[in-house]
Amino acid sequence: MNKTALITGSSRGIGRACALQLARDGYDVCVNYVEREDCANEVVDAIRALGQRAIAVRADVSDRAAVNEMAARAKQELGSISLLVSNAGIAGQSLFQDVSEAMWKRYFGVNVDGAFHTVQAVLGDMLHEKHGCIITISSIWGLRGASCEVTYSATKGALIALTRSLAMELAPSGIRANCIAPGVIKTDMVDVLGEETLADLAEQTPLGRLGTPEDIAHAVSFLASERASFITGQVLTSDGGFIL
Ligand code: NAP
Repeated sequence: MNKTALITGSSRGIGRACALQLARDGYDVCVNYVEREDCANEVVDAIRALGQRAIAVRADVSDRAAVNEMAARAKQELGSISLLVSNAGIAGQSLFQDVSEAMWKRYFGVNVDGAFHTVQAVLGDMLHEKHGCIITISSIWGLRGASCEVTYSATKGALIALTRSLAMELAPSGIRANCIAPGVIKTDMVDVLGEETLADLAEQTPLGRLGTPEDIAHAVSFLASERASFITGQVLTSDGGFIL
């Protein structure tokens, strides 16, 4: 069976670690980015050094036409997509009363519409082959309330509902859909919080440390594998016990 993965937002952070892990698992990878072409190219070089094929494609996941073009290019150059990791996301903090309509729409555009667009872009081939795996990256804040992150939390909750319902709808077609809810993971996204806050968050984590992008990549690798062939519609939390 063709092993080709499309991973949105894989130029940096969690997506980058997923791309490298999946290459080690034998996948050819379409690396997606929106701004950091330099980082995306570095990931592509690292994947090729591991002996797999890879391409970097710029596409803002909130742009349906751009996502469709990316999926078409990935299929043409690497073969039809058997694994989608819908990972691209944006986050930020704001009191709810200060959330502008533009901010609300942008967060939903990237975090939720992005998943809508990418799943639809690859689903036709998965349905045709009666085989495929979809993994969405939500957040513990999609499961729990997050003060000053109402918008982000709402998008991540939507992703969980989307994934569970997709799993029900697609299971008869041999396609699994699962979700990962990461805790605090050390990437550029949380580095903006500053050293002191990050140290506090590590202390609040029962396992006593922040997560690494590789922690999430290992969960993705498992859910994508045959070892998880009876698992669908689940939300796997990887957070060091943060929301226990
Ligand atoms: P990150 O370090 O900020 O990296 C974000 C990645 O997404 C980059 O590759 C970026 O591309 C890409 N991206 C951003 N907007 C995009 C768009 N509109 N279209 C396509 N790609 C886009 O983030 P991260 O921490 O790895 O987070 C990855 C996912 O995990 C997100 O969905 C996030 O919500 C979720 N998550 C993260 C944490 C955490 O603590 N870090 C916790 C829970 C969940 P460029 O390089 O081109 O900018």
